Amino acid sequence: MPDMTPDEFRKYGHRVVDWIADYGDRVGELPVRSQLAPGDVRGALPAHPPEHGESFDAVLADLDRVVLPGVTHWQHPSYFAYFPANASGPAILGDLLSSGLGVQGMLWATSPACTELEMVVVDWLAELLALPADFTHAGTGGGTIEDSASSASLVALLAARHRASGGEVERSGATGRQTVYVSSETHSSLEKAVRVAGIGADNMRVVGVDENLAMDAAVLDRAIVADVAAGAVPAMVCATVGTTATGAVDPVRAIGEVCRRHGVWLHVDAAYAGVAAVCPEFRELNDGVADYADSYVTDPHKWLLTNFDCSVFWVRDRGPLVGALSVLPEYLRNAATESGAVVDYRDWQIPLGRRFRALKLWSVLRWYGAAGLREHIRSDVESARRFAELVAADDRFETVAPPRLGLVCLRPRWERIAGVDAAAADELTARLLVELNDSGALYLSHAKVRGRTALRFCVGAPATRWRHVEAAWERIRAGVAELADS
Ligand SMILES: *Cc1c(COP(=O)(O)O)cnc(C)c1O
Repeated sequence: MPDMTPDEFRKYGHRVVDWIADYGDRVGELPVRSQLAPGDVRGALPAHPPEHGESFDAVLADLDRVVLPGVTHWQHPSYFAYFPANASGPAILGDLLSSGLGVQGMLWATSPACTELEMVVVDWLAELLALPADFTHAGTGGGTIEDSASSASLVALLAARHRASGGEVERSGATGRQTVYVSSETHSSLEKAVRVAGIGADNMRVVGVDENLAMDAAVLDRAIVADVAAGAVPAMVCATVGTTATGAVDPVRAIGEVCRRHGVWLHVDAAYAGVAAVCPEFRELNDGVADYADSYVTDPHKWLLTNFDCSVFWVRDRGPLVGALSVLPEYLRNAATESGAVVDYRDWQIPLGRRFRALKLWSVLRWYGAAGLREHIRSDVESARRFAELVAADDRFETVAPPRLGLVCLRPRWERIAGVDAAAADELTARLLVELNDSGALYLSHAKVRGRTALRFCVGAPATRWRHVEAAWERIRAGVAELADS
């Protein structure tokens, strides 16, 4: 098969866009979670690649026949699991333009627009979220788009490790024994980062949480004092704004005071909740960030209408970050880099190469405007609030943590409904979850909250309206009634 001609590209491109538009129209009629078993998709595909090129029609036919049944529909209006991964028309089109340009933006010189548009959109987002001016490219720091919050937190740790070792870690690998502080509710990506960075999980302190599942700053302080006394070098504390299990918020201000006293890097992981700060009424979540955070990450791909992947990461001081990650081989040398007048984003991430992700975030910010983004967040928070009210009004259920933004964690009170003990109750909750998700009508996930199994219900898919939330609640109630009868 020869190259696809521009006319062929146009023809199939229109069909693909039509396909995506139709998908958006009908996604609500599909089972939310894929109903396939392991191996079904692979089994439906040929074992060997084609020797001769095929028509794109054949690819599109297999998309419907093989791929779609194996897709879990994250854009389904009844998707309430994990944190929804937001997509939107403008983001899809922005991503398509990025593919069309096919740019690899490792250096400013490899495409100035790729770097400078990114600098502008992350500065815009910092302003929309009321993050401190230090975090912008006009200040001492700046932001960048990473593939995920996991990568951003690893990069934060590498910068923190660099600062704590005075750069010794990059020279000799010798850092002394560095320690990192998280809470029992911190996302698992931090432990992964600690492992990848070579700090070792034994040097990660899991600080206890209070009754709100938030890190206890006094316990953190004691842990740091004890480690310093034992000869360790505390490198980083990760505070979470919106934990994954329940949306709990660590006291960033109190934690920040501890960090400042001991000279420890404060990274704030706001992967889910951070974007809610587009609304002034939710900015108190970030209390302390402006005064104390060294780095901050939030994911527009979780709740700001931007297709995965788009995780925005800011630092207050770009020095340690670039110090940790910049290596300049001869083949990347160029006049712009040498002039010092440009940002080379390869120094802000692990890989060298990078996509032109700014196009999709730019498309989203321009299409919705700040007002449209606020409306999206507010309507989800309002739906979650009303859902929590329904839960609270039914004495067969309880919320196991305060509802936070779009997230409600709940459980049926099986002890009361079925007269069973806690262990049997947790098993019934787990069975309920399987049955609800197997139905294809909705999709929830679960968490352990204070040792008990809870359902996690997160409103955030762009297509979700109150009627879908209400229908999900009726499904959950009916599921409980059926299990109680059986
Ligand atoms: C989802 C989540 C992450 C991981 O996000 P990715 O972008 O998927 O890596 C990290 N931290 C928190 C608090 C999260 O909720």
